Amino acid sequence: MHIINETTFPRKEPKAAIRKEVCDGCAICVDVCPRNCLEVAINPRRLNARIIRLTPELCSGCGACQGACPKEAIFIPGLSTADLRGYVNQALAMSGVCP
Ligand code: SF4
Ligand code: SF4
Repeated sequence: MHIINETTFPRKEPKAAIRKEVCDGCAICVDVCPRNCLEVAINPRRLNARIIRLTPELCSGCGACQGACPKEAIFIPGLSTADLRGYVNQALAMSGVCP
């Protein structure tokens, strides 16, 4: 059983947003997204650069991508890093693992 999963992050709206000028297409967010709504694509604005593309209809706004992105390039409007940490700590505490 995974301690950290989609229910860890209870916010459901709004959808994820991407700062395209910051994203380098590293794809860390793709790996953590529980809904497979992110994919790597070629950035048409920068030569030989990658970027992330979101399918918004699939996004639940859970925030897992925001917590994982090392560049703060993807985020849920209105969701702070402090909110994310609170959700993770709550999930760890409920599972019996001290944060
Ligand atoms: S949004 Fe962040 S984690 Fe995702 S590809 Fe861009 S830089 Fe990497
Ligand atoms: S908010 Fe959740 S569902 Fe939406 S892109 Fe990020 S990880 Fe995927």
